[in-house]
Order: sequence, then structure tokens, then C-alpha cells
Amino acid sequence: MTRQDGGPPVKVCVAAAVPLRTTRTDLHSRAAIERFAGTNRRHGSGRFKPPLPRTQDPGRMGSAGLAGYPRAMTRDLVLVGGGHSHVQILESLALEPIPGFKTTVVVDSPIAIYSGMVPGFVAGQYQARDLEIDIPPLARKAGARVVVARATEIDRTRRQVIVADEPPVSFDLASINIGSTVVGLDLPGIRDFALPTRPIADLVAYIDPLVARFQQNVDRTPFRVVVVGGGAGGVELAFTLQARLLKETDRPISVQLVHSGRRLMDGYPMGLVRRILRQAARRGIRVIPERRVMGAEEGTVRFETGDPLPFDALIWVVGAASHPFFRDSGLPTDSRGFGITRSTLQVEGEDDLFAVGDCATLGDFPETPKAGVYAVRQGPVLMHNLRARAAGKPLESYRPQSDFLTLLNLGDGTALGAKWGRSFEGRWVMWLKDRIDRKFMRRFEIDDS
Ligand SMILES: Cc1cc2nc3c(=O)[nH]c(=O)nc-3n(C[C@H](O)[C@H](O)[C@H](O)COP(=O)(O)OP(=O)(O)OC[C@H]3O[C@@H](n4cnc5c(N)ncnc54)[C@H](O)[C@@H]3O)c2cc1C
Repeated sequence: MTRQDGGPPVKVCVAAAVPLRTTRTDLHSRAAIERFAGTNRRHGSGRFKPPLPRTQDPGRMGSAGLAGYPRAMTRDLVLVGGGHSHVQILESLALEPIPGFKTTVVVDSPIAIYSGMVPGFVAGQYQARDLEIDIPPLARKAGARVVVARATEIDRTRRQVIVADEPPVSFDLASINIGSTVVGLDLPGIRDFALPTRPIADLVAYIDPLVARFQQNVDRTPFRVVVVGGGAGGVELAFTLQARLLKETDRPISVQLVHSGRRLMDGYPMGLVRRILRQAARRGIRVIPERRVMGAEEGTVRFETGDPLPFDALIWVVGAASHPFFRDSGLPTDSRGFGITRSTLQVEGEDDLFAVGDCATLGDFPETPKAGVYAVRQGPVLMHNLRARAAGKPLESYRPQSDFLTLLNLGDGTALGAKWGRSFEGRWVMWLKDRIDRKFMRRFEIDDS
């Protein structure tokens, strides 16, 4: 099994060619991602940072106290995870700290990936750095300490966040924004032979080597991509991966988008589904409904009904599953293991513990989809409520919007969109998506110079 080491270009399934299991852990660090991708993207851009110590104090204050906070200020705010809401909390704290609180952010990786731009990265429209939010500089600006380690659970009695291989982190007020993992990873062979979309950093790290490998391959048989999942992520990855491979390899490609439902994008307007199917037919992407995966082995994915499909790359985009965090903490969960929150974003039964984004289910709106747009919208309400709770003032309620703008990147400079039951497409839709995504990301750029 070779990496990008100039080994012989053999006809192999991608899953076998790249040892996903052994790289996955490594890939959580930037250095490993760059080693894997064969390039250090930050070098030359002037933005490269050496690997981080696992715990960083802002301004390297050590035991002398946290930047901007006198010693007497002892109450602790702990942010667990660097999701879409928490990066906004750090942004806000940089402008206006919470009086009397010092902040610690616990993240399993110093880089948070903005998933909305991942399909564009797959298509080759963005560089990896375009979708990365560098947590430590953002935290430094907010006067927050960073612990780079995986939080495993909350000890509610001791009011501590338990962190793998690090001392527990005490809190007076805490918020959890750790996202989700993917359904079905325990099916036979999926961890070994499929590329799941979570952790999303692994997906990002895997794309360039995948393209490079097939650029080197002289075999003229089609490169077979099977994307499993009929939601927005599956659709975007099928289109954008095809666009990228067509642009960068001259090898024939077949892309099949397989899903278990009767229709793609359940819950979205039919007009959008028809547009997807029309565009798929135009590009030769085969959409196969009503196929539930049973498992995979090297080069073959098997279904409960229907013939197995051979693949060279199997992309796994089948929806959100919970991390064990809430169950392991003895916190209330829904049937899928996501933490249950009140409309104030406080965890059910807890006053000083909040949870937002994919990892939480709103008790009053349990059907709210697991989508980044909700985590983004929850950010300002969470910020308000953390400040209010710290000051003993009334909290706000969050109510999820009943509809949101859906924009699907097709990888060729165009996109499809839907809002309020109507659908649309074209270059202007991609222009709009790019504008919205870049505007969001600009908020977290830190000029260290
Ligand atoms: C390919 C793809 C495209 C998508 N496109 C869109 C889109 O266009 N629009 C949209 O609305 N949604 C989109 N989604 C869904 C979206 O990614 C998620 O709904 C969104 O990321 C959830 O945000 P979050 O803030 O809850 O968590 P995340 O963005 O997943 O962030 C969680 C953070 O917590 C960290 N973390 C995780 N576990 C721990 C731990 N135990 N300890 C410490 N830190 C931890 C992670 O490293 C990460 O930084 C897409 C998903 C995929 C896979």
C-alpha cells in the first residue's frame, strides 16, 4: 500500500490505496494533513505556524494570569468545540469580554473547517486555507486559553469538562458546539473502505491525494466514484468531484449517486430535485434511489436489495449521527443521542450549560435539520444568553427559521438554489453562494502581522 511516494500506478480501489484507518488519527493535526497532502500550504504564504503546544495561554501568560483579566477574576467560561456558533462567540469576546470571566476553548483540532465551502474545495475552486478557521489566533484575540484535545464528557457534579490526555477544565458557564459524526460507520467495511464526510478535515485532506493518484494512473478504464447519500452533501460531492476529476485527469470517469430514499433531497422543493436530476443526466451522473447499503469490501459496495456496485472511490455522506459526549455525560438526549436543549439553548435541566449546532436538538423543534445555517444563526443568541446568564439577566429564546436558502455548488461555476418553495440555477447562484461563504469566513481572518 503506497502513499504519494511514486509507487507503481496500479489499478486499485482508492480505499485500498490510501490506508484511511491509519491516517485518520494523524490527520487531526495540521502537520499531518500537510504531510498527507504532500504540501505545506502555509509555507510561502507567510501564514505558516509551527505545531501548537497542546495548551496555549493567550499572549503566553503562563501562570501570570490571562491577558486582559486581573487575577481576581476567577469565573470560567468554557467553550467545548470550535463549531459555527463558537467561532462567533470568540469573535464577539474579542470586541467585548464578559466582565468577570476568563474563557477557555477546548478543540480537538486547532483548525475548524467551514463545510459550506468544502464542495468548492473538492471542485478545485478554493484552496484548503480558504475553508479553514484558525482557532488559536482567534482565541488569542478574544483573550481565551486554548486546549487542543478531545473533550470526552462533562462531570456535572464537579463542573468540569473531561478532556482526553489533559487535566479536566473547570467551568462556571459552559457551551458545547462539537458538531456531529456520520450515520452508518459501523456497517461492515465502511470505516475501512469508504471516505466519510466526518471528520471533515479528513475528507479535505484526502481530496488532493486522490486527484493526484489518478492523474498518475495511465489505466484507461473508467475511474468509478460511488457517492452514498441523497442529501445536499451527497449531491454536491457527486457533482463537484466529477467536475474536479474531469478537469484534472484525462481518464474516463463514472459517478453514481446512490441513496436509500424514493427521492433525492427529501423535504426540499420538487423543483430543486428536478433540476438536480436534469443536471445529473446532462453530466452522465447516474442517480440510483432506494438502495440501502449493507456494507462494503475492497472495491465493492453491497446493498440490501439490488446488485453490488464496484467502486474505486466510495464517498459516505449519509447524514448526521451524534458523538457519545452527551450520553457519556449523563445529560438528556433524544433517541439518536443528541443533547436536548430548551429554547434558550440551555441543556435541558441545566442552567449553566448550553449546547448548539448539530450536537443539540431543540426540545421544542426536534425536526430542525442538522445544518450549518442553524449553528450560524444560533451564534448571536448564544452570545446574548451567555452574557445574560453571567450577569443574572433574562435569557432570549431562539426559534429556528422555517426555511433557509439552499445553495448547491455543481462544481462548474454554476449552482442550484431553493428558497420558499422556489428553485433557481445558474452562474449568478454560484456567485451568490461564493459571496455569502467568503463574507462569513472573512469575519474570522486574523492579520497577525
Ligand atoms: C460536504 C458537506 C457540505 C455541507 N454544506 C453545508 C451547507 O452548505 N450549508 C449548511 O447549512 N450545512 C452544510 N453541511 C452541514 C454542516 O457541515 C453541519 O451542519 C455543520 O458543520 C454543523 O456545525 P456545528 O457548528 O454544529 O459543528 P461543526 O462545524 O462540525 O464544528 C464542530 C467543531 O467541534 C470540534 N469537535 C468535535 N468533537 C470535539 C470534541 N469531542 N472535543 C473538542 N472539539 C470537538 C470539531 O473539530 C469542530 O471544529 C455540510 C456538510 C457536509 C459534510
